[in-house]
Amino acid sequence: MNTDIVYRALSEQIGEDRLEKNARMAEHTSFLAGGRAAVLVTPGNVRQLRYAMKIIAEEKVPFFIMGNGTNILVRDGGYRGVVVKIGSALSDIIINDRGIEAGAGALLKHIAEKALEKGLTGLEFAAGIPGSAGGAAYMNAGAYDGEMSRVIERVEILKSDGSEIYSLSSDEMGYGYRTSKLMATREVILSVALKLTAGKRDDIALKMDDFNSRRKQKQPQDYPSAGSFFKRPPGNYAGTLIEKAGLRGISVGSAMVSMLHAGFIVNTGGATATDILALMKLVQERVFEHSGIMLEPEVRIIGEQDGFEA
Ligand SMILES: Cc1cc2nc3c(=O)[nH]c(=O)nc-3n(C[C@H](O)[C@H](O)[C@H](O)COP(=O)(O)OP(=O)(O)OC[C@H]3O[C@@H](n4cnc5c(N)ncnc54)[C@H](O)[C@@H]3O)c2cc1C
Repeated sequence: MNTDIVYRALSEQIGEDRLEKNARMAEHTSFLAGGRAAVLVTPGNVRQLRYAMKIIAEEKVPFFIMGNGTNILVRDGGYRGVVVKIGSALSDIIINDRGIEAGAGALLKHIAEKALEKGLTGLEFAAGIPGSAGGAAYMNAGAYDGEMSRVIERVEILKSDGSEIYSLSSDEMGYGYRTSKLMATREVILSVALKLTAGKRDDIALKMDDFNSRRKQKQPQDYPSAGSFFKRPPGNYAGTLIEKAGLRGISVGSAMVSMLHAGFIVNTGGATATDILALMKLVQERVFEHSGIMLEPEVRIIGEQDGFEA
């Protein structure tokens, strides 16, 4: 299989310690559920990442870029390709005149903490989102009064065959609600430049505390999840529609619609991706019957239904 060729090339150039064969994706995702990836590589720097993307392109192997794994579900049959994990090696956070520049692997929480420390306002909304800068810039993550598209100045991007690095402004990223044009190009975000403004540290801290306590009150923090499972339908809320269809607390296997926030599907312990996806389908069908609205998952779902030999 071509994944074996890629594995061998990567182990020679990058080292076995940055590689996993038959990787259990439940260990890499916030859902703590799902199948295995044939190969998972965590490059240690941009040069290694470029090499990995080049080899993957040359061998025409399917690939998936992941950040912190907080918006991903891998089907139980596993992923027959290479998962490229943008980990802590690309997580520098640099303060400059115009704001903050963060490596794709930097966690939003850490960037928001740095912004607070330096008295920069604009990123308070993101402090409680558990993703990386790259994942958030790709998804156009948002909460409360903010969205990544409004604080991003430029995104540094690597072409998916590793050949070229270029940058796009926020306007050029084709942002919409939880979408960006990278969903079609499948390129890799290397870093994100954020435009923030000077503010009062006390006000920033107060706003972050307020958002975080609202999150604690309204969102299930006691069970693994991938956040809101469904996108917000125009003019409505997924959680409200699910609740109105009488689905709060409904479960399939160990996957359950959260009692606290019906927009979340949670893993109550040992849920499989099959449980989660069957519950997703059930919720979609019942909500459609009840309201005529078809909910679309926000969570990125990858992999195969049936198993494979890595
Ligand atoms: C408890 C909880 C609360 C949440 N609350 C919110 C919320 O309030 N608002 C919100 O918007 N989301 C929320 N989320 C979802 C999630 O945290 C965000 O979507 C986040 O931006 C995903 O970042 P990540 O690094 O985990 O990306 P991943 O889950 O690893 O990947 C998500 C997508 O981004 C792509 N991607 C990741 N990194 C890169 C990269 N460097 N280059 C190119 N593509 C990349 C992946 O291919 C994938 O398609 C929540 C999740 C949890 C578990």
